[in-house]
Amino acid sequence: MLRNNRTALVTGGSRGIGKAIATALGSAGWNVVVNYASSLAAAQATVEHINQHGGQAHAVQGDIGNSADRQHLITETVVHFGRLDMLVNNAGIAPDQRMDILEATEAGFDRLINVNLKGPYFLSQLAANAMKSNPIGLDGRVGNIVTISSISAYTASVNRGDYCVAKAGLAMMTKLFAARLAELNIGVFEIRPGIIATDMTSGVKEKYDTLIANGLTPIRRWGTPEDVAKAVLAVADGLLPFSTGQVIDVDGGFHLQTL
Ligand code: NAP
Repeated sequence: MLRNNRTALVTGGSRGIGKAIATALGSAGWNVVVNYASSLAAAQATVEHINQHGGQAHAVQGDIGNSADRQHLITETVVHFGRLDMLVNNAGIAPDQRMDILEATEAGFDRLINVNLKGPYFLSQLAANAMKSNPIGLDGRVGNIVTISSISAYTASVNRGDYCVAKAGLAMMTKLFAARLAELNIGVFEIRPGIIATDMTSGVKEKYDTLIANGLTPIRRWGTPEDVAKAVLAVADGLLPFSTGQVIDVDGGFHLQTL
């Protein structure tokens, strides 16, 4: 494999979509920091998989909802691999309990917003500051920030308002950082997955099996973590050099309005 000496930090790289992204980047020659919150064994398995396939990966524990952990993640990335070229804000949580917005608690809201919105926001700030002195690459950039949001950024689910508000916030976060970082030659992208088969959706599998079979998405299948990873690779490969702030829908066409 041709190594490219560039480094990506993938938050929540131990499982699900983040694991697929970390694996795809490793296979494409990137050094990969695989961040996880608590699943040490899963993170180690992802790292071993990447290393066995010719990549170089390193697991770093850290809660992206914690300020000191965010700083540690960036510092550890630069210490271990020399620099940071790409941040993938992937880690996210579902609500503890899906609750109607007339009943949902402030504690649940604070927990979710802290991890799903405040975490990526301030990690992006740290990442941009770490990237801005990198040498300019062949794609004209010193780095990229990619955030995995969701169709929930614009789809109202009244029994998980906290999750929707966080994802809508990530959409504005992408615009803000894209506008600010263009002059620093840092690209900023939002990837909006639809219904993807991971641990997060395993509890609602039957519900979505039926909805998909009945035409919820024009492309009638579940999305896979690898579908999302391919969109990240397009950015990593420098295939979008004159785009920034772009939303990339990876949703089987869910966002289309049809009549
Ligand atoms: P998942 O299977 O539940 O995996 C979540 C990952 O995030 C794990 O690696 C987990 O680490 C990590 N994580 C959780 N909280 C963290 C924290 N505080 N700090 C650091 N890492 C943390 O989820 P997924 O389905 O792959 O989802 C990944 C992202 O895609 C999320 O942002 C989610 O909202 C979004 N998304 C998912 C879908 C879907 O249908 N699955 C659709 C749209 C968007 P541990 O292994 O240590 O727990």
